[in-house]
Amino acid sequence: MTATLLTGIGELVTNDPEADDPVGLRRDAALVLDGDRVAWVGAAVDAPAADQAVDVGGRAVLPGFVDSHSHLVFAGDRAEEFAARMAGQSYAAGGIRTTVAATRAATDEQLTARVAALVAEMRRQGTTTVEIKSGYGLTVHDEARSLAVARQFTEETTFLGAHVVPPEHADDPAAYVDLVTGPMLEAARPHARWVDAFCERGAFDADQARAVLEAGAAAGLRGRLHANQLGEGPGVQLAAELGLVAVDHCTYLSDADVAALRDSGTVATLLPGVEFSTRQPYPSGRRLLDAGVRVALASDCNPGSCYTSSLPLCVALAVREMGMTPAEAVHAATYGGALALDRDDVGALVPGRRADLVVLDAPSHVHLAYRPGVPLVQAVWVGGRPV
Ligand SMILES: [Zn+2]
Repeated sequence: MTATLLTGIGELVTNDPEADDPVGLRRDAALVLDGDRVAWVGAAVDAPAADQAVDVGGRAVLPGFVDSHSHLVFAGDRAEEFAARMAGQSYAAGGIRTTVAATRAATDEQLTARVAALVAEMRRQGTTTVEIKSGYGLTVHDEARSLAVARQFTEETTFLGAHVVPPEHADDPAAYVDLVTGPMLEAARPHARWVDAFCERGAFDADQARAVLEAGAAAGLRGRLHANQLGEGPGVQLAAELGLVAVDHCTYLSDADVAALRDSGTVATLLPGVEFSTRQPYPSGRRLLDAGVRVALASDCNPGSCYTSSLPLCVALAVREMGMTPAEAVHAATYGGALALDRDDVGALVPGRRADLVVLDAPSHVHLAYRPGVPLVQAVWVGGRPV
């Protein structure tokens, strides 16, 4: 293995949990990467020798973004639906069915090519770990193949057969839940780490979501949940009660929901690209952080409610619209994402973690929010190598 000294780091975001500030900032820092891991972190003047040295010229370095929520396996395009929404139509969960029809009609090669393009797009913007859900197949065959496609790109794959009731089961949602918790789960299981459901009016109620999560758990999958996106509802309480790792959206929360999140330790994953793209009100990150809730930021990249793959955009929105400081937003998009995937090997630049990092063409992480829309990611390293 070759050790690499990364030096000339004007500002280093370590996310060291032992640090006094939210992101464990260090100035004039250096890193030693050994193989795919971080081996040493410290002041540049104290840096040990290594096989090779790379000077990043005073730029900021931060952990690679961990995007814990995306829906990249799909076909088709819903730009017209977006334009209609911007012309005044409201967002409803049923638009998912448009994508389902296109996805079922696509070949495996077409689906794989789309995911590859989107993962590459994410990588250029600094994402080094991504979770990918199924949920646009909604048949046994199409859910299994969606997950098999996703698995080519990440270990963090999520079975979301309970995304919406497909048209052919519209008259009998209970039979569809039986399919999801039976043969569909069985076919999905070999390709999935997680199970998820969309607990929302127009999708699945709390009893149905509970049935899906419990069946998934019995099959060895860990649970996460889409909840409280379009209004207050039972999903966040269900997630807390079941001790899920993460509950995502959390746009509409009662005080009891916030307390349940704090007490359970379930990560609240905020998806501000959705509010941006649907003109819904943003949730308050400030309220959650002040209550002691663990917060992640993710893209929710999908063709309907939010077609951005950019965590830098999500950071900027969290700062501008959700009351978070730049440091808190960067932490949520890196360390928070790792928490939301229950990963202790990514999301921080401390010895032993994976050497997944972003070099910004900027002196500070603050520029991600201070210069929104500017492509600041100058280099991305995954597993100790530039990519
Ligand atoms: Zn989603």
